[in-house]
Amino acid sequence: MSSVGGADASRPEGGVAGAPVRPRLGPRTDVALMAGYHSPQVDVDVRLNVNESPFPPPPEFLDAVADAVTKVGWHRYPDRAALRLRSKIAAAHGVDAGQVFVANGSNEVLQTLSLTYGGAGRSVAVFEPTYALHSHIARLTGATVAEGARADDFALDVTEVRRVVAEAAPALTYLCSPNNPTGLVETPETVREVLALVPGLLVVDEAYGQFAPWSALELVDDDTPLVVTRTFSKTWSMAAARLGYLVGPSWVVDELQKVVLPYHLDALKQVAGILALDHVAAMESRVAHLVEERGRLEAALRDLPCEVWPSGANFILFRPTSRAGAEVWRALLDHSVLVRDCSSWPRLDGCLRVTVGTTDEDDRFLAALREILR
Ligand code: PMP
Repeated sequence: MSSVGGADASRPEGGVAGAPVRPRLGPRTDVALMAGYHSPQVDVDVRLNVNESPFPPPPEFLDAVADAVTKVGWHRYPDRAALRLRSKIAAAHGVDAGQVFVANGSNEVLQTLSLTYGGAGRSVAVFEPTYALHSHIARLTGATVAEGARADDFALDVTEVRRVVAEAAPALTYLCSPNNPTGLVETPETVREVLALVPGLLVVDEAYGQFAPWSALELVDDDTPLVVTRTFSKTWSMAAARLGYLVGPSWVVDELQKVVLPYHLDALKQVAGILALDHVAAMESRVAHLVEERGRLEAALRDLPCEVWPSGANFILFRPTSRAGAEVWRALLDHSVLVRDCSSWPRLDGCLRVTVGTTDEDDRFLAALREILR
């Protein structure tokens, strides 16, 4: 039997008895070789692994959404351009609605960017260690990933940026500020320097932007090849809603709108985003509380046998120095505390990442960690 597009006759499908065994069609060769994105969802008491907000959104928001559910025109397609939502986000950032693109989580924003500007024959630059989805999505779209290395302290090294840009001439260059998983915030000077170097678009992923002291949003205008991505998943306490956006030049947004699927953003999500923006003060007070809690958590980690990286986000990267990271991760799980195991990621040997939770959750995490590292 001939093999079609990577079909693998050694892995037959279980079929009807007596019927000829059909080979399974394999995926694209590059996809077959990929490990995929893994983040275990385990049922535990204390979930500090995916940088969610530990607090739900305000009850008034939930009431308003409940009311809106009854008013959605369920039999009609949603507003394809999501204009009310984009206008409200735009007003919050002092830009035009035409400079805002919205999608199902900022991951879909990143995917649409890669589909539009990446793809076969183009390259995408990333500086590791950073958010794994930047390179993963770029590869899925067929782009070549040009990987630069961060300095020993995980700061961005502009000489390395210059090298990668000169070698690869990337269509897209990704920065992540604060950077996941290290927590480091890029300085305005660094972002400006990189912006001056890149031949294509600079993407600054600010999924954790509100936890940081400054934002690259201030550099966005229609004459600058810069886009800043944001999400409702973290600071807005809306990870379940899957809503993200970017702010950038209108000529970029116009191209993204061509590429994203028609009616990609459902009506309820659009209205949830609009209603969330009525609660800016509540969001800012949650952020302020988490930033304070982050300071307490960081100080407590520094009292333990751990290397700790300073963070401008709602998580902290640390490396236990007296026991292997993977062992500590497992022991924390035995205490029903789930953190992110980064210990096998490149350059992050033995590292774990903990999300800032409620005071109680952080206390439980710290108590467990003290016992494990005792
Ligand atoms: N960017 C970064 C840096 C992230 O850490 C995440 C979430 N882990 C995302 C983007 C995607 O977030 P979402 O799709 O929930 O908006």
